[in-house]
Amino acid sequence: MADGKVAGEFKKGKNMKRILTGDRPTSDSFHLGNYVGSLKNRVKLQDEYDTFILIADLHALTTHFDKTKDLEKNIRGLMLGYLSVGLDPAKVTFVLQSQVPEVLELAYFLGTLTPRAVLERQPALKEKLDQGEQDTFALLQYPVLMAADILLPKANLVPVGKDQKAHVEFARDIAIKFNNLYGEVFPLPEPLIGDVPTLPGTDGQSKMGKSLNNAIFLTDSPEEVEKKVMSMYTDPKRIHANDPGTVEGNPVFIYLDAFGADNDHEQITKYKELYRKGQVGDIEVKKYLVKVLNIFLDPIRENRARLERDPELVERVLKEGTAKARSEAQKTLAEVKSAMKLDYFDQNNQDTR
Ligand code: ATP
Ligand code: MG
Repeated sequence: MADGKVAGEFKKGKNMKRILTGDRPTSDSFHLGNYVGSLKNRVKLQDEYDTFILIADLHALTTHFDKTKDLEKNIRGLMLGYLSVGLDPAKVTFVLQSQVPEVLELAYFLGTLTPRAVLERQPALKEKLDQGEQDTFALLQYPVLMAADILLPKANLVPVGKDQKAHVEFARDIAIKFNNLYGEVFPLPEPLIGDVPTLPGTDGQSKMGKSLNNAIFLTDSPEEVEKKVMSMYTDPKRIHANDPGTVEGNPVFIYLDAFGADNDHEQITKYKELYRKGQVGDIEVKKYLVKVLNIFLDPIRENRARLERDPELVERVLKEGTAKARSEAQKTLAEVKSAMKLDYFDQNNQDTR
């Protein structure tokens, strides 16, 4: 890189714990939910943890197998997104999942320890099928591949939104199983859930999603943010501005709490009181939310515009990170195979077999 640093080289102490987390390149931008659910914690912890961030293109194929032409644009967009929210390539290793094929080998081994019923029961599977996704083997296998993503770099901590918590717990269970059967290879990973475990969508659905058409993206222009907020779902029982309204579970107030700065808190508390009493209209509160969101998004937009001026930057960072992750992956996989007695031709192990 320009300053001579290699990906992940910053302050990397020997005993530094590892983070692994990632995102599906199903869009070329992150949304507000990705930010409060996971990105914010990653930015906060990048100095303390040796952080690996995965662009999970193999996971994107579970629902977007017919949209592979968009992958390249989306991968580039997510990379710009990471850097624009303040993830530092000198501290973080960015990895393109499909270019570390060792993950598929590990997923196979982990699959041998996974009862089929556990996969069939996962709530995320039912949710995706209810959304009309194809009932494929890859969709069923998703948690096994995600466990391999986490265990391959021997991650200790996985900052995710609540929708991914069960998957991290599954990875932990399977690590325990592996270690008991073959010997201690994997640390036990733990989920770290963001300030807002699940940010609702602008349509009032319980989860904002890249693929759900209910997201405010970090790249939306001030006009797009205004348009989306002004038509946002609020309290459906409230018809007139002087009807008492509900604040709890109301996405407008959830967004205000999540993105209001310290100096907004007094105003937000006041609006909540007035809203409950039916003394302020939705339009006024929404206009305030537009202001709050645009103040939050402005510096991110500026960073992205600046980063876009160096067209090779993100490719370079991703290539370097992926090469580093691959060499780490090969080390773990050698340990795994040795523990499983599958290291037939490894010279070093001839005597111990
Ligand atoms: P898709 O709809 O394509 O699955 P997504 O918005 O769910 O996209 P992912 O790439 O699947 O995004 O997940 C990236 C990270 O963002 C994960 O840690 C996930 O838990 C978190 N996340 C996603 N949506 C939300 C949300 N609405 N609130 C909090 N965290 C979220
Ligand atoms: Mg998702």
